[in-house]
Amino acid sequence: METKKRIYVGLLGASLLFIIIIIALLWYLVDNKQLLFNQVLLTFIIALAVMILALLGIGITSIVIMIIRGKPSPFMETLSRFSNDVLFPLTVLTGKIFGLDREKILASFIAVNNFLVSSKNIFIRPEKVLILLPHCIQNSDCSHKITDNINNCKNCGKCKIGELRELAAKYGASIRVATGGTLARKLTKEIRPQAIVAVACERDLSSGIQDSGTLPVIGVLNCRPNGPCVNTDVSLPEVEKAIKTICHG
Ligand code: SF4
Repeated sequence: METKKRIYVGLLGASLLFIIIIIALLWYLVDNKQLLFNQVLLTFIIALAVMILALLGIGITSIVIMIIRGKPSPFMETLSRFSNDVLFPLTVLTGKIFGLDREKILASFIAVNNFLVSSKNIFIRPEKVLILLPHCIQNSDCSHKITDNINNCKNCGKCKIGELRELAAKYGASIRVATGGTLARKLTKEIRPQAIVAVACERDLSSGIQDSGTLPVIGVLNCRPNGPCVNTDVSLPEVEKAIKTICHG
């Protein structure tokens, strides 16, 4: 097996081994709890687990409080980010078990994120805003290389790229087309925006929002009249509304 695959498979095995060791250790400690050292270790492990669970619980409560108050606070945001990072995969799995559509769960996550970003009432100068578009918005028959330079678009009207570029120019915001998460991250590093308006599908938006850390991201879901990843579309008023949300002052 080549190194690339070995790393992932190895880590999978190591993770399983780690879980087995923890369970075996707990089993041993409970089975031999008459020994003082084991009692101390068991108490420490339980205290640590309770602390982590409490932090996760406070993080979830913070999200609820911020939604109800309509006003995030940096402390609550940090806690909610921790809960989200730890529990996100489990949340999607729980949703699946209850028969909820994965896209619906991710769309809900994006809606919560957008609400929290908008309730911050931040004012970012439009020129510090980056509009990130997915490549699939470009008409699949178009031969112009817009990922290198969006100005290569001839605004022929066959897709929304031209209009989106005009919208960005109207506000003086930066606009780029990314073929995936790696390019999106590279563009963000290069341009160093203070906020992002990202257009993408539920999956790409939710992972992009999670990747962005403290950088505010407003996600705008694309429309997929031709199925995923080909000739997708987006509502221009929705994109404009997202720009106004972070630039309104
Ligand atoms: S609007 Fe621009 S990107 Fe879209 S098809 Fe026309 S030239 Fe190509």
